[in-house]
Amino acid sequence: MSVAKVFNVQHFCLDDGPGIRTTIFLFGCPLRCPWCCNPEGVYPNGEVFDADLPSLFGECLSDLPFYGKDGGVTFSGGEPINSVFEIRPLIEDLRKTGITICFETSMFVSKEKFRLALSLADFICADIKVGTKSDAESILGYDRFDWFVENLSLLKKSKVAHRYRLIMNTLNGSMEQVAARLQLIEDDPNALTEVFNTHNLMNEKRLKLGVVPSKSYQALDSLEIEKIYTYVSKNRKKSILLEV
Ligand code: SF4
Repeated sequence: MSVAKVFNVQHFCLDDGPGIRTTIFLFGCPLRCPWCCNPEGVYPNGEVFDADLPSLFGECLSDLPFYGKDGGVTFSGGEPINSVFEIRPLIEDLRKTGITICFETSMFVSKEKFRLALSLADFICADIKVGTKSDAESILGYDRFDWFVENLSLLKKSKVAHRYRLIMNTLNGSMEQVAARLQLIEDDPNALTEVFNTHNLMNEKRLKLGVVPSKSYQALDSLEIEKIYTYVSKNRKKSILLEV
C-alpha cells in the first residue's frame, strides 16, 4: 500500500492557504534554514510515521463539511513537493471529490517535481527566503538556487493562484537582501506578498529533537520589521505584515 512519511496532520488551519484547511506535514527537506520552525520535518529524530494514503484521504474527507468554497487540503513540511510523486494518488482522489489542493513550498526542488505539483495544485504558498545564490548556499545550506529561480519562473507563467511569503530575520533581512528578493518577483506585481518575522521558539524544538540549537539568527525587532514592511508595501500592490 502507498504511504507518505508524515509528522503531523492539523485540522481547521487558517494560515495555510485559502479558507479553512487540513494541513498534512510531510517529512523531508533539502534545506537547513537556521530558523526552521518545523525541525521535526527535517531531522529524523521526531515522530515521523508512515501514513497510508487511503487513511489520509479518509481523514481529509471527514473535514469536507468545513472547507466551504475556498478551503481544502494543504501539503506542508518539510518540503512537500519532494514527495509529490508518492502522494499523487491521494491528491488525485481529493481532487475527484472537489477538494482543492495547496502546497507550501520553498521551490528548491527539481523542475520535474515542480511541474507535476503545478499541474495538481489550486494554490501555491511560495517562500522567497533569499534573493541570491550566495545567500542560498551560505544561509540555507543548499546550492541549487538555479532550481528555485526556474521554478519561480514556472509559477509566474502558470495559471495557478499563488502568494509569496518573505520570511525575515537577522540573516536575510538587510535592505539589500530584501531588495534582491523583491527584484525576483517584480514582474508578478499582483500576487499577495506576506512579510513574516521569524520567531525565536525554534531552538526549544531543536533541543527536544536532540538537534544542536542555532545561534546564528534572531527575529527582527519591531522597528526593523516595520521599516521593512513599509519598504515592501511601497513596492508591492498587495502586501500584509503577518504577526507571530
Ligand atoms: S524549507 Fe521549511 S522545513 Fe525546510 S529547513 Fe527551511 S524552514 Fe525548515
